[in-house]
Amino acid sequence: MNLIIIGPPGSGKGVQSSLISKYFKIAHISPGEILREEFEKKTKLGIQAEKYWRNGNLVPDEMILKIVKKRLKQKDCKKGFILDGFPRTLNEAQKFLRFSKLNKVVLLDIPDKISIKRITGRRECSKCDAIYSPEIPSKKKGICNKCNGKLYQREDDSPKVVKNRLKIYHKSINPILNFFQHQKLLVEVNGSGNIENVFKRIKERLR
Ligand code: AMP
Repeated sequence: MNLIIIGPPGSGKGVQSSLISKYFKIAHISPGEILREEFEKKTKLGIQAEKYWRNGNLVPDEMILKIVKKRLKQKDCKKGFILDGFPRTLNEAQKFLRFSKLNKVVLLDIPDKISIKRITGRRECSKCDAIYSPEIPSKKKGICNKCNGKLYQREDDSPKVVKNRLKIYHKSINPILNFFQHQKLLVEVNGSGNIENVFKRIKERLR
């Protein structure tokens, strides 16, 4: 089962990818997460890419394609994978299909208003990476329910950067959707509502 999930920032791609990954026992791959980890480790790639993502701009295709290609060679991808937040350009989509098979592309759609509200209110745990949103806040403000770790806001989740991320998303998404639709791979899922309901919708569409 080789899957892709795309959608605007805040559509719930990360949360739904984790559920899909557990349910189908496939690897969860988020190039955005890999970029943040590389930056934390201060690798050359991590430092180069940070210049782009910090302001909400896309990281160059070739850099992302290299990361994805390398990651797909790892053992845990043998049974399949869910790619979260990739591709973000038509070029990435076209080049990806030259080196990988693909079963379905899930488009998780939500209105911009919800996107902005979710993202600017999103907080991540610095210890265990748990994610909280205005819809599911932590019990104690700024503290993780699971491990008592300190919560922080992602650098690119500020209102100004989110608006730029959304602008870029709308500018680039249509050719990608047309491409996957043409390949008969695209399924559209409404991303509004609670996590369980959205996951149910996804499972129905993947059957
Ligand atoms: P994400 O965690 O998926 O929201 O990604 C965070 C940031 O990483 C994005 O705003 C982009 O700057 C960069 N990024 C992640 N995936 C891609 C991609 N497929 N192509 C280009 N840039 C990406």
